[in-house]
Amino acid sequence: MTNDYKFKFRPYQRRFLRSLTTNHGKWDIREGIILRLTDESGKVGWGEIAPISWFGSETLEQALDFCRQLPGEITEKTIFSIPDELPACQFGFESAWEMGSGEWGVGSEGDEGDEGDNLITSNSSLLYSALLPSGEAALNQWQTLWEQGYRTFKWKIGVGAIADELKIFESLIHTLPAFNKLRLDANGGLSYEEANLWLQTCDNLKANGELALEIEFIEQPLPVEQFQEMLKLSLSYETAIAIDESVATLGQLAACYQQGWRGIFVIKPGIVGSPSRLRKFCHQHQIDTVFSSVFETAIARQAALQLAAELSRNNRAIGFGIDHFFEQEETWFQTLWNDL
Ligand code: MG
Repeated sequence: MTNDYKFKFRPYQRRFLRSLTTNHGKWDIREGIILRLTDESGKVGWGEIAPISWFGSETLEQALDFCRQLPGEITEKTIFSIPDELPACQFGFESAWEMGSGEWGVGSEGDEGDEGDNLITSNSSLLYSALLPSGEAALNQWQTLWEQGYRTFKWKIGVGAIADELKIFESLIHTLPAFNKLRLDANGGLSYEEANLWLQTCDNLKANGELALEIEFIEQPLPVEQFQEMLKLSLSYETAIAIDESVATLGQLAACYQQGWRGIFVIKPGIVGSPSRLRKFCHQHQIDTVFSSVFETAIARQAALQLAAELSRNNRAIGFGIDHFFEQEETWFQTLWNDL
């Protein structure tokens, strides 16, 4: 790609087929921005800004303000000097730039009709983890996902009362087939006592040889402010802990590493920040990572999967098994861009 890029952007909204319930509350509509960079030769790079402000990124409004104040033509310098307070923008612009520079896929202006299809690619070397619905609904839905080929499942905890969740958990682990993996994601919603209880329960099940499946880890048991407690928990139990909300952005990732975290890091490329700086950090420190979705569209997903394929270690499934939360993507994408 040459140095100047025509820049266009378009906000989008996508409704979840069923609302997503986590400890942060209910989420019904995913909003974001699709952007397009076109270089002087006509090469096109697509990018997506998909913020989750309650998770630690900028807000959609801040991202929109940033896009609105940019001129219709931008340079590489613009792309690589986006401030750290706009991590989802850093990801969206830099991945569009990478795509346009031909590293892993090109498009050209004028054949937008095909773009949507070209963007929906899957990387066969990656294993996927499927997100189960929270609460008891998980007991009814795992089978459909299992039939689709998923062998790693994630279930949200810290949503209901712990006594109820432990009961459902008990049913779930005895229902899921052997050799599958289960991740429990609390989204920071447990108290220190509850986190101990979950970890002890998982350790006991393992020690008793009762488990045919593997509890892979408990994700973000405590709120971000309680990092030291999580560090302590990670050294006290067999069951692994992954941090997610604690490492939403590159700055936090580096800070947790420096404070001694050697457990699992969940990385959401869509909001973590600059892809090139993420690569550098992962190569330098060889951290144990799980890559995960921010409920982005196929555009950000392709860039995120590219990073996951490059940087994943320990054969961990990636958290992109979320297709069942949205309607078919192709129609949606073409509607968004047809009138541009
Ligand atoms: Mg999580």
